[in-house]
Amino acid sequence: MLDLALHSTVVDEHSLGVGYSCPCGCTPAVTYRRGDAAALEGCCCGNEFAVGPDAAMRVSRRPGFDIRLDSVPAPWAEVVPVAWAIGPSAHPAEDHDHDGVESDIVVPST
Ligand SMILES: [Zn+2]
Ligand SMILES: [Zn+2]
Repeated sequence: MLDLALHSTVVDEHSLGVGYSCPCGCTPAVTYRRGDAAALEGCCCGNEFAVGPDAAMRVSRRPGFDIRLDSVPAPWAEVVPVAWAIGPSAHPAEDHDHDGVESDIVVPST
């Protein structure tokens, strides 16, 4: 099974940075704020990544894409659902850039 290397970073007590390693080689990430609808990031390869209570509803259901579900612990003692739509493409598009959330503190998910 594809390892998406889900990881999360505590931004502050009300927000959580969550990212993964996409099969295409980039590392999309979003910041989810407590109480918000799911944060969504589309990768250049067509995959989608969502973090929040309605994550599974936010990713597109498209032919050839697998829906993957996981969750990460949040600093406010909840578990935040994570969802992906993972397609067959492992190659980034030419226009390859993301506004990633970067931090030194990376908490591996369990
Ligand atoms: Zn990308
Ligand atoms: Zn990708």
